[in-house]
Amino acid sequence: MLEHIDARHLALRGKLEAAIDEVSPLPRALALDREKRFDRELKARLGELGAFGLGAAPADGGSGGDTVDQVIALEVLGRRATSMAVYCVVSFLVTRMLGSYGSDQQKNAWLAGLLKGKTQGAFCLTESAGGTDILANTRTTATKQGDGWILSGEKTWVSGATDCDLMLVVARTGEHRTRGLTVFVVSPQAAGVRTTRLDTMALNGFASCTATFERVVLQDDAVVGVVNEGLAQIMTALNGERINAAAVVNGVARGALEAALVRAKERQAFGKPIGQFQAVQHRLSSCAIGIEMAWSAVLDAARRDAAGEATDIVSGLAKWASSKAALAATDMGMELMAAAGFLEQEVMQRYFRDARLHVFAPVNNDMVLNLLGERWLGLPRSY
Ligand SMILES: Cc1cc2nc3c(=O)[nH]c(=O)nc-3n(C[C@H](O)[C@H](O)[C@H](O)COP(=O)(O)OP(=O)(O)OC[C@H]3O[C@@H](n4cnc5c(N)ncnc54)[C@H](O)[C@@H]3O)c2cc1C
Repeated sequence: MLEHIDARHLALRGKLEAAIDEVSPLPRALALDREKRFDRELKARLGELGAFGLGAAPADGGSGGDTVDQVIALEVLGRRATSMAVYCVVSFLVTRMLGSYGSDQQKNAWLAGLLKGKTQGAFCLTESAGGTDILANTRTTATKQGDGWILSGEKTWVSGATDCDLMLVVARTGEHRTRGLTVFVVSPQAAGVRTTRLDTMALNGFASCTATFERVVLQDDAVVGVVNEGLAQIMTALNGERINAAAVVNGVARGALEAALVRAKERQAFGKPIGQFQAVQHRLSSCAIGIEMAWSAVLDAARRDAAGEATDIVSGLAKWASSKAALAATDMGMELMAAAGFLEQEVMQRYFRDARLHVFAPVNNDMVLNLLGERWLGLPRSY
């Protein structure tokens, strides 16, 4: 990598790479992906190393550091253990929401466990009518009843819901379009909560799920932050999630480039390594440029987030650039591997599948361009 990061961040990167090599080397990681199993051993090791607490204060149970530490860790995970990287993105999102808006009681109950990787959170925003137009499509409701609330509705594409200890659920609590959403902490064990796993083609090591809420009774202390102000709360956290997702998919892109380079140096045709052909070198170099430029954007966004600056523009820019770099690198990688790319024991096919996620999640690239057109370039709103 060409970036300038300090010795502490280099040490963090090296520590995580060594842990993944030790606990979950590539053949094991690929077997888990085939079997669609979550890597519990790796999660435990990462928890011991404090990976899930990066960016959170030691006083809360965190490991210190900031968003830059998070993206350094997520890039490594994206490159070596992509499903775990997405687990970590969800974990950072949930801890950020609770850390920023949770009551003292909620923080005391959940934060330390989440930051140590002993407790797992899920974030329930998307509904089946569509994840992009969240204001129109949030049909899950929470209705005031006495000292509490009745939660009813169905969420989909909730990462990790079948195996979590708490859920942050976004529900409509008021009629006002933008000031009518509230976030609640919900126990997956509460009466009326049901979760099921979806059968997916990628990110196989971290379950994507539906979560149904049938007249779930919540107390007032389940509200995270302020009633009806949920949209503003989640938007800040979602900008952070975009930066983190950008780091993950940048890692996917770099992993694909590294695997392609190994192949380019080893595979022979016409008496020389295929990496000696100019056409192959140009493809590899073009992908490397895209990845480095996108990584600079990720680091810039992370540094701005750590400094408390607005990140609505830079987070989208980093996510768009990194996902495009990953599409290019994984497409090039499959082309360069040729028939070998079809083998399940080769990592390229996993990168090729996993890269797809961040084209549309956590926000789709078309919507990113809409937001950049409006907020960066000053064009009229298009949607
Ligand atoms: C593996 C996985 C994990 C996920 N984890 C979670 C999670 O933990 N929690 C959660 O809440 N959600 C999660 N999601 C959902 C994810 O955030 C949504 O898939 C995403 O927001 C896009 O929503 P959608 O798939 O409904 O696409 P839609 O909203 O149906 O959009 C489809 C397409 O329409 C186009 N489009 C839509 N609007 C516009 C517009 N205004 N301008 C131009 N084009 C537009 C875009 O091309 C877009 O890709 C996950 C999804 C996956 C696949």
